[in-house]
Amino acid sequence: MSSIASTAGIVSFEQARRLVEVHAVGVSPAQAESVELLAGLGRVLAEEIVADRDYPPFDRATRDGYAVRAADLAKIPARLEIVGEVKAGDWPEPSSCTVRPGQAVGIMTGAPLPAGADAVVMVEHTALVQSSHPSAAQNAASGWRNFAQGTPGSAPDTPAGGFVDVQRAVAAGENFVPRGTEARAAQLLLDRGRRLDHAAIAIAASVGKSRMPVFRKPRVAVLSTGDEVVEIDATPRPAQIRNSNSYSLAAQVSAAGAEPVRLAIAPDERRRLRVLIEEGLECDLLLLTGGVSMGKYDLVEQVLGQLKAEFYFTGAQIQPGKPVVFGSCGAGALARVPSTNSPSARERPPAPPKKYFFGLPGNPVSTMVTFELFARPMIEALAGMTPQPLLFLRARLKSEIRTKTGLKRFLPAVLSGEFENAEVELARWQGSGDIAALARANCYVVIPPDRERIEAGEWVPLLMR
Ligand code: AMP
Ligand code: MG
Repeated sequence: MSSIASTAGIVSFEQARRLVEVHAVGVSPAQAESVELLAGLGRVLAEEIVADRDYPPFDRATRDGYAVRAADLAKIPARLEIVGEVKAGDWPEPSSCTVRPGQAVGIMTGAPLPAGADAVVMVEHTALVQSSHPSAAQNAASGWRNFAQGTPGSAPDTPAGGFVDVQRAVAAGENFVPRGTEARAAQLLLDRGRRLDHAAIAIAASVGKSRMPVFRKPRVAVLSTGDEVVEIDATPRPAQIRNSNSYSLAAQVSAAGAEPVRLAIAPDERRRLRVLIEEGLECDLLLLTGGVSMGKYDLVEQVLGQLKAEFYFTGAQIQPGKPVVFGSCGAGALARVPSTNSPSARERPPAPPKKYFFGLPGNPVSTMVTFELFARPMIEALAGMTPQPLLFLRARLKSEIRTKTGLKRFLPAVLSGEFENAEVELARWQGSGDIAALARANCYVVIPPDRERIEAGEWVPLLMR
C-alpha cells in the first residue's frame, strides 16, 4: 500500500460526507445555455425566475357560488338579489358589475371577484329563488343545475334578476385569494441553482418562460478498473466478469444531472491505468471503480499518487464501500508537457483547474452506494445546484436486524406496504457484490455504527434509491 493512504486516512461517514460538501462548495458550475421549457426538466436553473405580475393577478374566487358582502349575511338565512354573473375569464367592470348591499353576483372558481364583494358563499350553501317562481327554492347542489336548465357542470344562464337564499354566513375574505397574496410582481419564485421538477416547470410556464436558462451539464468520466473486467458484449472467460459498474455509474451520473463519459476498462497495470486516469481528468470529474482496496493489484491510489493527487480521505467507516477514496489533482499534476521542453513560466498557459476524483470500490453494491453518498453532491455542485442535505426517511422495521458494531451500514432493503403502513426489511443479500439483491431492493436501511441489534417494529432511517 502506498503512503498516501496513511496521510489522508479513514474517516467516519459524517466526516467523509462533510469533506465532500466542503470541497463541493468551492467548485464553479459550467456556463449557462438556454433550452426549451420542457427540455429544462431535471436541469439546473442558471438564473432566478421572478413573478412577471401579481399572483393571483386579481382577487380570485376559489369556489363556485355567489360573490357577496359578508355583512349582508349577519342574519341567516338571508335573501339576496342576483345582479350578475362572472365566470372564469370574464372581467367584471365595476360600472356594470358591482355588488351593493343586499345583492349577490354568481361567480365561478377562477373568476375575478366583482367590486363591492368581500367574500364568496359556496353554491352548496344557497338555494336559488327564481323570480318567476319565488316559492321554488331549491337546494344548492341541484341549484346550479336547475338554474342552468342543463346538464350538471354546464355553465348556468345569466342569473341577473333572480334571488338567492343564503343559508350559511361567511366571513369577509372567505373563498377567494386576494390579488398578489401568492406572489407580488418581481418577487423571487425560483432560485438559481434549483433543479427543475414539474412544479418548477409549472411556475416557469405561469410566468411565460417558454425557454429556460440552465447550466450546461458537467462531463463526468467513468473509469472501471480490473484485469477480470470485460466489455458487456464480450463472452467472459470463466474468471472474467462483465463491466456492469461503468453502466450503473453512467446511469447514476445521468440521473444526477451530468453527462457520463465512459472510458475504456483499465487493467491492473500502472502505465495504462495512468493514461486512462489522465484522460478521465480532462472531464469535470473522474469516477473510478475498483482497485482501491488493500490487494496487491489495487493500484488506483498509487497511480493517482504519481500524479501528485491530494487525498481528502482514503476510506470511510461504512459498509458497503469502506475503501472509498476522495481527492483531487491540481494544476501541476495535470500538466502533460514534458518538463525539459516546458515553456517559461510567463509563456505557460493558465493552469487547468483542480480536478476532483472519487475512487469507488469495485463491488457493484459498494459502487452504487458510495456514488449516492459522496459522488452525487460533487456532481450536483458541478451542475450548478445549490447544496442539498442528505435526507433519510423513516419506516418501521419488519424483522429484526443483527449486525456488528463499528461501521455505519447502508443495507439493501425492501420498503413495502400500502398507504400509511410502510414497513421495511432487509433484502436477502450475499454481500457487496450481490447485484441480484439490489434488483429486489428499493432502498437502503441505515444502521448506526453503535447498534448490534435492531428489533422488529423500531423506526429505522432509510436512504431511498
Ligand atoms: P476491487 O474493488 O477492484 O477489489 O473489486 C471488488 C469486486 O468488484 C471484485 O469482485 C470485482 O471483480 C468486482 N468489480 C470490479 N470492477 C467491476 C466492474 N466494473 N463491474 C462489475 N464488477 C466489478
Ligand atoms: Mg480490482
